[in-house]
Amino acid sequence: MIQKLFPAIQGLILDMDGVLYQGNEPLGNLPDLFAAIKEHGLRVIMATNNAIRNSDEHREKMRSFGVDLEPWQVINSMQVVVELLKHRFPDGGPIFSVASPSTMKAFEEAGYYNDEKNAQAVIVGLDRHVTYEKIEIATLLIRSGLLYIGTNPDASFPTPKGQLPGAGSIIAAVTTASGVEPLFAGKPEPAMYEICMERLGTTPETTLAIGDRLDTDILGGNRAGCRTGLVMSGVTSPDDLAHWEPKPDLVADDLWKMLGL
Ligand SMILES: [Mg+2]
Repeated sequence: MIQKLFPAIQGLILDMDGVLYQGNEPLGNLPDLFAAIKEHGLRVIMATNNAIRNSDEHREKMRSFGVDLEPWQVINSMQVVVELLKHRFPDGGPIFSVASPSTMKAFEEAGYYNDEKNAQAVIVGLDRHVTYEKIEIATLLIRSGLLYIGTNPDASFPTPKGQLPGAGSIIAAVTTASGVEPLFAGKPEPAMYEICMERLGTTPETTLAIGDRLDTDILGGNRAGCRTGLVMSGVTSPDDLAHWEPKPDLVADDLWKMLGL
């Protein structure tokens, strides 16, 4: 299917959940798929808003499905947050974050540590141990004027149990309480796509951004100027697609059909 696009696609930016797997279930034979992608000379990077896992843990999950990825081939919204923090506070320093332990570890490795008394910025993402107290602290700091970064706006994410509350749901609570809109790092903001294209060595015209969600994957690909492909193996229903403009360049049942390799 991607052979229809002109100029020819050289790089793929793949969303993970709902595209490569659903929860812990791979969608199709992933080792064969990645072998075919390589055989066709396509460069590929995974870009996910999911910041519960850091990129090593995302690679570990792909390894459990039989796919070996290099470190540059996975980026999540949390790594984009680190890039945004480095831009504002190049020397590191105190922050207040509502985030998963692995996300906090990544902040610490980059020189940013949790210290609510001296925080320079507030970062809110998916924290499975979120409490009223954490929302309270974040709210008061944001109301005092601190920079407010949200990892990604996804309201939910797919699991075998169904759609569970995502980072966007927690961010919505803080946004409502503080009355301030966050600066988002993940999709649909273009920053993540720009980092991906740098790593792929491609231009927007030769890059296809593939995902299962319209308001993050497809909107973000559009904003970055990439070609876009929607797979129906995740959260989007035919009815959602019917009401969405502009339409993705490609639509397919799953990644295999979209790539047609
Ligand atoms: Mg997805």
